[in-house]
Amino acid sequence: MKDQFEREIDYIRISVTDRCNLRCRYCMPSCGVLSCGHDAVLRFDEMVRLVRLFCSNGIRHVKITGGEPLVRKGLPSLIRELKKLPGLETVSLTTNGLLLSAMLPELMDAGLDAVNISLDTLREDRYAEITGQAALPQVLKALDDCCLQPGLRVKLNAVTLADYNMDEAEELAALARDRQMDVRFIEMMPVGLGRDFLGYSQDHILARLEAVYGPGSKSTEKRGNGPAVYYDFRGFIGKVGFISALSHRFCESCNRVRLTAEGLLKPCLQYAEGVDLRSLLRSGVDDDTLTKSIRTGIFRKPQQHGFCGETAECGDPGTGGEPTEVRQKEEGLMSGIGG
Ligand code: SAM
Ligand code: SF4
Repeated sequence: MKDQFEREIDYIRISVTDRCNLRCRYCMPSCGVLSCGHDAVLRFDEMVRLVRLFCSNGIRHVKITGGEPLVRKGLPSLIRELKKLPGLETVSLTTNGLLLSAMLPELMDAGLDAVNISLDTLREDRYAEITGQAALPQVLKALDDCCLQPGLRVKLNAVTLADYNMDEAEELAALARDRQMDVRFIEMMPVGLGRDFLGYSQDHILARLEAVYGPGSKSTEKRGNGPAVYYDFRGFIGKVGFISALSHRFCESCNRVRLTAEGLLKPCLQYAEGVDLRSLLRSGVDDDTLTKSIRTGIFRKPQQHGFCGETAECGDPGTGGEPTEVRQKEEGLMSGIGG
């Protein structure tokens, strides 16, 4: 369906847990967070019911996220159920990769279409410093394993971190040179702990890559369901993408909404406001009532995020109410929202 600004909304990111087995510095405090608790998190049957209704209202693609989605027990069974829903075209997963190799056969069997692995560095010491765990070999193995799965689309997502991986852009991009996968650089957003980190811009990375790999040409091919822009480099099997919410704001073409682990339908990453679908579900309302709330939530999607209100270049703040995620770090952790 279309929102109030005529954008077609066909993509939902669903956080299946707020828990995680890593503590990435820009995402989760090293002491962890008090999990919202077992009963507070939507059950799988509740998620499936909601997604069925979302699909009757134009959602075609689901991304499963978290926290770390693979720590949620029984995740393949959720994927299997989602894949049966009429109208749903793809179910993908974003993961830190730690548990991925072991679960891959089950995930593939359940019908997983695509996987995004988050990896910001290829150096073991840095990986441990960023995430709190010396687990890089596990993630690299998961990446290798995924690339061997016929039909599975694989992407690597690296958040750009000025103090940690600025000098690794070329090495990270080279993964897309040598394998059938895309590498995407994600601009650090001032959400939760991310506020304390400086990223670096798309233009900067592109210039670095072009200095080594020659000129990149912007791809016109539709790739994935999101806002990334892609470049082709000579001799590369995969593409290099950028998701640059601040320096190349894409709100105008944003096609997504989010469902938090606690069942809040969040139409924009930044704003605290949303529709409490869990309360509705658990109060026993019928599908029509749920559908009305879903449609209202989607329709009211704010025009744009207000992150750039803090950085002079990008102009006006958004229109979605109070930007809690910007003001209060603990309330707006990315691990809770689902990235
Ligand atoms: N645990 C899973 C993972 O790491 O892929 C899924 C959840 S994580 C919140 C999803 C993505 O959000 C990761 O790629 C992570 O690097 C990214 N992320 C976290 N905080 C961010 C921030 N402040 N700005 C941009 N991306 C962020
Ligand atoms: Fe966990 Fe993903 Fe956040 Fe890292 S980015 S702490 S892996 S939720």
